[in-house]
Amino acid sequence: MELHLEPLRLPGIDPKRPVVVAGPCSAETEEQVMTTATQLCKKGIKIFRAGIWKPRTKPGGFEGVGTVGLPWMQRVQQELGMLVATEVATPRHVEAALEAGIDLLWVGARTVANPFAMQELADSLRGADVPVLVKNPVNPDLELWIGGLERINGAGITRLGVIHRGFSSYDKKLYRNLPMWHIPIELHRRIPALPIFGDPSHIGGKRELIAPLCQQAMDLGFDGLVVESHCCPDEAWSDAAQQVTPDVLDFILDKLVIREATQSTESLETLRRQIDECDNSILELLARRMRVSREIGLYKREHNMTVVQASRYSEILEKRGAQGVLCGMSAEFMKAVFEAIHEESVRQQIEIMNKE
Ligand code: PEP
Ligand code: MN
Repeated sequence: MELHLEPLRLPGIDPKRPVVVAGPCSAETEEQVMTTATQLCKKGIKIFRAGIWKPRTKPGGFEGVGTVGLPWMQRVQQELGMLVATEVATPRHVEAALEAGIDLLWVGARTVANPFAMQELADSLRGADVPVLVKNPVNPDLELWIGGLERINGAGITRLGVIHRGFSSYDKKLYRNLPMWHIPIELHRRIPALPIFGDPSHIGGKRELIAPLCQQAMDLGFDGLVVESHCCPDEAWSDAAQQVTPDVLDFILDKLVIREATQSTESLETLRRQIDECDNSILELLARRMRVSREIGLYKREHNMTVVQASRYSEILEKRGAQGVLCGMSAEFMKAVFEAIHEESVRQQIEIMNKE
């Protein structure tokens, strides 16, 4: 389905990159909202975000203040002249947010992963004239993301954008949510008119990653950023580790290098990012393979077996060589790669076997 899109047209907002949306993960108290918004406003931020309804992984956590927070958002609009944004996940949220005059809505990653919920949201948005940003679904499924956009667009919402907030993974290491940059890049290739916002807070999950992730988003030509900012980040009721003060946010934004790249260097940059991403995956896979190797080492030690089992080694070399050739790589290259991997595996197993 082809999307029918119009520019976001946010009143008073210069569409020059980056369009910044900032504010706390959650609206907590009227005072916290007003203090944070005032500090952000002083730093020139024009769009204030705060979650009123919070999707939480487990029950018992802070699930948002609910509709009592809406008048706080209206104070931000009226007293500071900022636009305000919040997350909607159910038709009731949409109704309350529209009634309160919220300027910009976003749909959260957990909701976008559920087509029934997306259709209900879309139906409740029919006839409304409000811009909507659709986060990527928690799972790395571009079709599901586009499907969500199609549902909202099908309800007549033409001022649409997306937020790249990374993808959930079992193995949380550097990132809270893996960026998998190739997914938003492919989305941009398929729907170039769709504005893309980067969400470094939810990708990184920690403050230190906000600056580099903002820069990466800009280097990829993203249109905007959604950053979590709180007057007292350490005391935040949700996502404390990934929020920065308005002061720090201002510093980060100030240091951003915005490249008005020509088409050719932009695509080179894009391709290089993809290479970086591939290399990261190769590294992670190699590390995983070595962990398995060490476990095999333990097994062999317990069963008094030798480290190198010649028949298994030849089988690996032969099979991988043939698979590689099928994938367009030379047999020599495959042999060199798997010999090197095997050598390191053996070294790791010997280390394990000799451990007391
Ligand atoms: C949020 O923006 O605070 C939020 C809940 O995000 P996500 O849906 O990306 O987890
Ligand atoms: Mn959050």
